[in-house]
Formats: sequence, structure tokens, C-alpha cells
Amino acid sequence: MNESNSTDLLLDISILYRSTQKYYDKMLQSLSLTYAQLPILILIYEHEGISLQQIAYEGGYDKGTITKQVQKLQEMGYIRVQSSQRDKRAKELYTTQNARSIMNKIYGIRASWWQHISASIPENDMQKFSTFYKTMVVSAREFAQKDQEEIVFFDHQKLNIEIDPGKMSTIVWTGGCNFRCPFCERSRFIFLKEDSRVITGTKILQYLEERQNVLDQLVITGGEPLMHPELDSFLKEAKALGYQIRIETNGSYPQHLEDLIQNHRVDQVVMSLKNTPEKYGQSIGLDQAEIQKIQRSVDILLHCDLDVRFVIVPIKEFHGQEDLIQMITWIKDAPCIELHSYQESMTPIQEGLHGYTHQELQSLLPQLQEITPNIKIKGGSL
Ligand code: SF4
Repeated sequence: MNESNSTDLLLDISILYRSTQKYYDKMLQSLSLTYAQLPILILIYEHEGISLQQIAYEGGYDKGTITKQVQKLQEMGYIRVQSSQRDKRAKELYTTQNARSIMNKIYGIRASWWQHISASIPENDMQKFSTFYKTMVVSAREFAQKDQEEIVFFDHQKLNIEIDPGKMSTIVWTGGCNFRCPFCERSRFIFLKEDSRVITGTKILQYLEERQNVLDQLVITGGEPLMHPELDSFLKEAKALGYQIRIETNGSYPQHLEDLIQNHRVDQVVMSLKNTPEKYGQSIGLDQAEIQKIQRSVDILLHCDLDVRFVIVPIKEFHGQEDLIQMITWIKDAPCIELHSYQESMTPIQEGLHGYTHQELQSLLPQLQEITPNIKIKGGSL
């Protein structure tokens, strides 16, 4: 296990949750209660007459879950439900004598668990932790209720003049990828750390608005940008600001690609081709490749009137000379094919791979140019 896993807050919370559940379920067995019902029963006991809606809000429950649990507590004789005096349609929940007689035991079980898990933490630290934890709960609740449809990015290069010489570009990186190419140069955008910097689409649009007269092009790369359906509305706004849009994709989302092209959201598409159809699966780190999707993207790009480029990063362990010839032949009608030299990532998916050197690519070039003259060598990637 690497270091990033050992400091994974989400995993820690999950372990704490499951351990707590195991403990409570065992201790509550004799009362026929479960861990899930306990906070609800305590809430009712401490706020006699509370409504279903209040419990749902306090505990962050959805309506279905809370209704089911309240029904069970009622069937077990721990609570009763009655209509409110003030509003007959509203229901109020009360504990029964049965429940009140076991609350002492329940509080004891809860306190023992708390004592056990906090025993080795000094009291001061525990108080600080409780404050931080409550703050995180409030933030989590607010964030979970917000509209999550906005696209987010995980890096932003404000100005780049090399990616498309002659153009002033700004570059954003999306997170996540459906492929696991062993020679991936972008793994930091596939396996994102919990504390990764997140930049909202709104922030990027603000930046684009402020630089409207300076920048020419917005470049969207990743990870795999076309995994994100929210991209479309973001690009609509970026286009409305007058930007040219370049998208870099692995070609596995042909429908999204086609929609973006038809909706005039994109001006330039760069598709990376990983290997020959027969060897595609091993080159993307999966048992099988959905080669028909790759083929469809190739067909879409070969028949559209955008600025289209295909990129190949030749790796000695994956691409023999024959493979490269077959790949170029596959896309020989493309207006532009770029051979990139390989730069190993800081955290490679597979270590010890060897790219073709610039000189080796140069010596291969004449043979490849016999298939199509539209090939060039370009150094490095983003
Ligand atoms: S090389 Fe591109 S397609 Fe492959 S895993 Fe990395 S980001 Fe995804």
C-alpha cells in the first residue's frame, strides 16, 4: 500500500463507520435494535414530538430511509406516532415506555464506544477534533445539497504559447480516465489525491472573461475530458466569450464527440491513438478495448471539417515498427498525425518503459511518410 492510501481520509472515515456499525449491531442485538435505528431513537427521545422532516434534516437522511426506520421502531414498540394538535396532517413522534426503559443502556453502549476510540487522544486534541469534525460535517452537508452539475478541473495553466504555436492558449485538466495506459504521462489526473486543488468551471469562465482580449484558445485535456457530460454547457459559455476550443481525447466517447462537433462547441480535436486494433486492449491497460468506439471516433474525425490531429506516442515495449506502420495506415487520411516522444510520469502506471528517441523517430519518418506525408514529430506532451 502506498503512502497516499494510508492518509486517505475517505477510507479512514469508512473504516471508522464500519467498525462503529459492527460494535453497535453486536451490542444492540439483545434489544433487537440496529446501528441505523439508534440515532433516530435518540433524536426522538431527546426531542419528543419531533417530526419526520426534522429527523431527516438533522440526520441528513432521505425520506425513504427515515420512513422505513421509523416504521420499524414503531412495530417494535419503541416509538408511537400521533397527529399534531396544531396541524392534523403533521405527524409527531414520541418514545414509548419501552424505549425510555432502555435509554440508560443505550447511552452506556454509546459512551463505552466513545471512550474506547478516543482513549489515546488527549482531551484538548479531542475537543479540537470535534470542532473540526463538526465544521466538516456542515461543509459536507452544504456541498452535498448544492447543484453538482458544474464541471471541475484539477489544474489550470494560465498561459501557454507552445501547444499551438501562434496562439495564446490557456489549458485546463479534467480528472479521471476510463483507460489505464501503462505509458500514461498524466497519471496524476487519473488517480487524484484527496487534497487535490479543485477549480470550478465558473472560476475558469471568469478567467476567460477577464482575458477575452488577450487569449485565443482554451485547451481541455485530462484524464479524459469527454467522460464528463457537464462539459457541453461549460463549452457553450466559453464559446460565447469568443474562444477557440481544443479538446484532447482518447476517442472512447464518440457520441459525446459527435454532439460537441454538431453543437459547434469545438474547433480543434486531438485524438491519441494507442495501438493497432488487435493490440488496443493491452495498450490501454484493459482486458479488452471497445474498438468499435475508437473506430467510430476515427471515422467522425476523418469526415468533419475541424482542425483534427492524431497523436501517437511510440513505446518500444508496445509498438514495433510494423505496429506503427499499421497504425499510420489506419488513419492515413488524417490531415495531421503527430509522433510524440515519451516522457515518463512522476508516478507511472508501469515503470521502466522506453519511448523511441527523437533520432529513432527521425529515422523511421521517411518510411512512415510513404504512407502519408502528413506526419510530423513533435516533442513532449503537456
Ligand atoms: S494516456 Fe490518456 S487515455 Fe491513457 S490513461 Fe492516460 S489519460 Fe487516459
